[in-house]
Amino acid sequence: MLLEVKDLEVTYGRTKAVQGVSFGVERGEVVTVLGANGAGKTSLLRALQGARKPQGGQIIFDGEDMTALSPAARVAKGMALVPEGRQIFVSMTVEENLLMGGYMRRDDGVHGDLAAIYERFPNLGERRHMKATVLSGGEQQMLALGRALISKPRLIMLDEPSLGLSPLFVEKLFDLIRELNSDGISILLVEQNTHMALEVAARGIVLELGREMLSGPAAELAANPSLAEAYLGAA
Ligand code: ATP
Repeated sequence: MLLEVKDLEVTYGRTKAVQGVSFGVERGEVVTVLGANGAGKTSLLRALQGARKPQGGQIIFDGEDMTALSPAARVAKGMALVPEGRQIFVSMTVEENLLMGGYMRRDDGVHGDLAAIYERFPNLGERRHMKATVLSGGEQQMLALGRALISKPRLIMLDEPSLGLSPLFVEKLFDLIRELNSDGISILLVEQNTHMALEVAARGIVLELGREMLSGPAAELAANPSLAEAYLGAA
């Protein structure tokens, strides 16, 4: 198991955002976390990233306990988050944004990896010296992913990456998730696009008010009548 989350608890004052959630991501696997607004998905990712200290539970990555480590240390170990709303630095250039993702690296391969990112995302390469504000929403999502990739992650955690993207970019994004996964990167995908998330993932977990409501193979979840009713828009 690459990532093991055990009995995680995240609270804000009296609000229990995540209540005893446990799941895992195997090496090379795509796992999706589903749930309505307020179910605790972002709180879960913030705890995994290290931005929010959990009130209980454990986060094990590659056999090592990450629970007390800083966000930067987790990036250095190979856990990268692409946050909700991309969190691009709009006053910086495209390239400066990408380089922010490499700040924990101790090797000198960052510039070679930049070239690989520009090859993968030619629109970013063409605009490398422009401020990130010139990018479209879809290109900003690619930039946020590129920034995560430059940290050489083994696990990428994506928080609602398709939010606000045109259907064409959503297709591209899901193709890219498949591509990164076939390059060997494990993926934890928080999505509101339940259909597409269950198509790309091997397994899923559904949160409701901070607790696990359902979990299992993606195909089983996609066929589950209660999930279909709640999230898949079934009549
Ligand atoms: P969304 O899809 O709307 O982002 P979510 O599933 O990611 O929803 P969270 O954002 O994790 O859910 O929210 C879970 C619960 O925690 C909600 O009740 C929310 O109001 C509460 N919450 C989230 N962030 C904070 C915060 N910074 N302070 C107080 N309460 C918060």
